[in-house]
Amino acid sequence: MKQRLQKLIAVAGLASRRKAEEWIAAGRVTVNGTVAKIGEQADPDRDRILVDGRPLPRPEAPVCLLLYKPIGYVTSRRDPKGRPVVTDLLGKINARLYPVGRLDLNTEGLLLLTNDGDLAWRLSHPRHEVGKTYLVRMQGSLSDESRRKLEAGVLLEDGPTAPAQVSNVRKAGSHTWLELTIHEGRNRQVRRMCEAVGCPVSRLKRIRYAFLDLGTLRPGQCRQLSPAEVARLK
Ligand code: URA
Repeated sequence: MKQRLQKLIAVAGLASRRKAEEWIAAGRVTVNGTVAKIGEQADPDRDRILVDGRPLPRPEAPVCLLLYKPIGYVTSRRDPKGRPVVTDLLGKINARLYPVGRLDLNTEGLLLLTNDGDLAWRLSHPRHEVGKTYLVRMQGSLSDESRRKLEAGVLLEDGPTAPAQVSNVRKAGSHTWLELTIHEGRNRQVRRMCEAVGCPVSRLKRIRYAFLDLGTLRPGQCRQLSPAEVARLK
């Protein structure tokens, strides 16, 4: 059956749909010997699809893992500086898994990894607005005004943030703990939001992603999502 090339490339686990579109635009994809065009469709059973001259691999069985990322691991498959990367923690899992979004080096918590480029694309797309909840330890106290700003939207250098939810605020000595749920995935978003309202973050842990939580996992441990959980994410 014919399908859009970017979808076929994503399902084969090579890249997200968006990245695949960039590859097509850059002329890196050919179908039956002709450079593919944006929007082109092909049939993986009949057409010869090449990316950078190599045949599109047969799709791997889809796998989606939930990892408790520890502090000190880079959210990537490889790090040019040689630091530990999250895929070091996956043991013998025999699939090319890519992180869905990213957590900073100094952020711990729930990270999904998958070889299903289509699922990764859906989850990262702002339209899907998956809620992500972070346990935040901030310096000082959270004033009513700062809380209101976090919830209503904070103006960052890359634009205002979407409405967010603050809950479970509790003061502990010179720090405040709270839970912040956001529906976007911008770079260092939680740290930047808190800084913008005058409350620098001293510890950050993602505790929920959509309906998923860390359960009994310990830092560095992972588990495979069930087919029902994956279906619910889609
Ligand atoms: N927001 C941040 O500031 N850092 C993360 O790792 C995730 C969200």
